[in-house]
Amino acid sequence: MERDRMARRKKIYEGKAKILYEGPEPGTIVQYFKDDATAFNAQKKDVIDGKGVLNNRLSEFFMTGLNNIGVPTHFIRRLNMREQLVRSCEIVPLEIIVRNFAAGSLSTRLGIEEGTPLPRPIVEYCYKDDKLGDPLVTEEHIAAFGWASQQDMDDILSLALRVNDFLSGVMMAVGIRLVDFKIECGRVYDGDFQRMVVADEISPDSCRLWDMETGQKLDKDVFRRDLGSLSDAYTEVARRLGVMPKNTTQMAKPKLIN
Ligand code: UDP
Repeated sequence: MERDRMARRKKIYEGKAKILYEGPEPGTIVQYFKDDATAFNAQKKDVIDGKGVLNNRLSEFFMTGLNNIGVPTHFIRRLNMREQLVRSCEIVPLEIIVRNFAAGSLSTRLGIEEGTPLPRPIVEYCYKDDKLGDPLVTEEHIAAFGWASQQDMDDILSLALRVNDFLSGVMMAVGIRLVDFKIECGRVYDGDFQRMVVADEISPDSCRLWDMETGQKLDKDVFRRDLGSLSDAYTEVARRLGVMPKNTTQMAKPKLIN
């Protein structure tokens, strides 16, 4: 039975928004997207009905697009509403942030008003460590502590800028401004060769997306800043991109008939 098979599957890791299970073949992993939303290093938490389904679809959409234009990602295929099959990789312990407009921590840190266009995309690195609150680090720290080699950093920068160009264009076409986003990268091994790929997820959880006309926020800031319904915002992004034209996450729950 399906349930027995799922129950026996080995859990590798459970994070804030996803669970990773051992995949069906060596070198593969199943990513399960949860409905949990967290912000401010998990100090703010909620369950948003349907968020996992939307992020699974949206991440599939972006990763497939990237694969199709030759930007390597860990994505293999979507398995069902909440799960996707990905290549297992050695995650570099960095959050790679690309910014096109000032917002969030950059605005706070440097006193630049949110929404100010940046003269060029700015790439920042944070060390992935929840206990430390993912601190901003420089390439000096990354090299000194051996988190990534110079070759890795060259590959990561090139991936990050290609993802930025792709995502900015895709979003612009549907009237959405890509303000900033975060990716994670990992090393995959093909025999003796190693290459860097885009890993984790790309979804409105990890981007800032503003409507180009109204400035309305269509990303996780809706949750962080209590600006309304997060699932409505993500559904709007999915609808504009033609992903999930039918709103399958908002279907009525089964009702008990007396
Ligand atoms: N981001 C993320 N995970 C993190 C930190 C940031 O996905 O742990 C994303 C965030 O959604 C935004 C971008 O990275 O799109 C830049 O975030 P920022 O540094 O401004 O941090 P924040 O203001 O969210 O604390």
